[in-house]
Amino acid sequence: MSVDRWVVCEQCDAVHARRELQPGEVADCVRCGHQLYRHHRFDVEMLLALTLTTAIAFLLANVYPIIALDAQGAYNAATIWGAVIATWESGVAPVAFIAALLVFFFPLAQILLFAYVLLGLHGGRRPGEFRQAMHALSLMQPWSMAEVFMLGILVAIVKLQGVMTVIPGIGLWSFAVLTLLLAALTSYDLQDLWDIAERLDGDGGPVAREPA
Ligand SMILES: [Zn+2]
Repeated sequence: MSVDRWVVCEQCDAVHARRELQPGEVADCVRCGHQLYRHHRFDVEMLLALTLTTAIAFLLANVYPIIALDAQGAYNAATIWGAVIATWESGVAPVAFIAALLVFFFPLAQILLFAYVLLGLHGGRRPGEFRQAMHALSLMQPWSMAEVFMLGILVAIVKLQGVMTVIPGIGLWSFAVLTLLLAALTSYDLQDLWDIAERLDGDGGPVAREPA
């Protein structure tokens, strides 16, 4: 058994030998009971399709206005970037910066990284920058907070509704869909992608990998 078949418990640091699980099985830490890993029927093609759909939703969410405001005939539509720029210009640059990161750069980076990794694995090889890409994905996972922005928009719409006519735009629906798709995509256990890459490497000798 090679060294990379060990799993370290995130909670108590107990070391376990990793073994193949049956469908539906879960491996728990023998010392503290923390869940170590689950069996996944990991389908690269399905995840690729999910990534592509997420990319389309991302594109639509950024191209179309999220909301249109109609105040006594004065019609004003705003895209996500329009909102970020307006926030910047109103003097709260840090908020604009964080919003741009959370709603644009992180989702974009996640989509591109997943596409890169999955396209490689789908083609039967470990992509050149696999390790770096997987590391970036695991770093970004806790920062995937598009739903926070979604909630912010909904609160703004409800508040503005009394003052002016607020018309939700295609961008808003696309962003809502994007939020759900991103949550689905990032909920996958990255460890499974490591396992697939490892199987692809086959007899290519020991493979460096992230600690579990
Ligand atoms: Zn434990």
